[in-house]
Amino acid sequence: MSELRNGLPELFVERVGRILPAERVDRALASFGIDRPVAFRVNPLIDEPARTLDALLEAGLQPQPVSWCFNAFTLPHDKREALVAHPAFEDGRVYVQGLSSMLAPIALDPKPGEKILDLAAAPGGKTTQIAAMTRNAAPIDAVEVSRDRFYKLKASVERAGATVVTCHRADGRYVGKRHPGVFDAALLDAPCSGEGRFDPRDPQTRRYWSDKKIKRCASLQKALLRSALDALRPGGRVLYATCTLAPEENEGVLQHTLRRLGDAVDISPIELPIGHTLPGLTEWKGKTLDERITRARRVCPDDHFTAFFLALLTKRA
Ligand code: SAM
Repeated sequence: MSELRNGLPELFVERVGRILPAERVDRALASFGIDRPVAFRVNPLIDEPARTLDALLEAGLQPQPVSWCFNAFTLPHDKREALVAHPAFEDGRVYVQGLSSMLAPIALDPKPGEKILDLAAAPGGKTTQIAAMTRNAAPIDAVEVSRDRFYKLKASVERAGATVVTCHRADGRYVGKRHPGVFDAALLDAPCSGEGRFDPRDPQTRRYWSDKKIKRCASLQKALLRSALDALRPGGRVLYATCTLAPEENEGVLQHTLRRLGDAVDISPIELPIGHTLPGLTEWKGKTLDERITRARRVCPDDHFTAFFLALLTKRA
């Protein structure tokens, strides 16, 4: 582990200076120590959202709608405890989920009737968001390798009334070879070095971070992305996402995939409902990357959003 600067690993701070445009660096670094508003989705699958909102208002909470995400709301950070103590949280009418995380299903844009794969699914935030977006009208296969997290996934899915979801405990790297060409759309919210979750006040958030960890994550992500693409039908799409800034796990994984698969895959522009994102990098550590990687989007950490990376890949017909 490298030395710390303002509670963040020195090496990480130095890398951020090279990853983000100069004018974004200070604000981004300062945002790691702040208490953001708590964001959540109101679940339409088990009750009318309006009734759930009334119940929250009756409890003295005053949720503010998120203009760009249907059924999403925020509350000041100090209302978090009251929100998770409310019966609506316990019984699945409310799901607490960061704003950046909500962007991934929106970018995937799942449609009723599509067959959907979620290849790294626990604890189930995005799986249940997709089920809610499609009103339980798109079958979802949700895959998770970790035993404990698999049970958390199952519990979230049941609590959310996401009846179209089938949970599988399996290693996502082998799903594509076992079930080739069957899905219309896939989400790969990949395991990553989690730089977006760093909090200077909590050493646990950076405990396992290192150069080696970034390399290990990148190699797992490449295998998972390949598997997701194999599992798609020709013409299908996969939304690749991480909650890290590390280019090795973001642009580097895309570069590797484009080079390996050639014309069989492309990167599509992403329609995001927020305006302040950055394009993917086309240069890292002296290497020039494929120009198409600018179609990926980077969410810069700030007062509302944690760091996030999104790319939409299409499997050519
Ligand atoms: N999509 C989830 C959500 O919105 O709640 C969060 C997913 S988290 C970023 C990544 C997940 O991938 C972790 O639960 C981790 O255990 C799982 N994972 C790691 N390696 C995996 C593999 N080889 N196959 C499937 N899942 C894996």
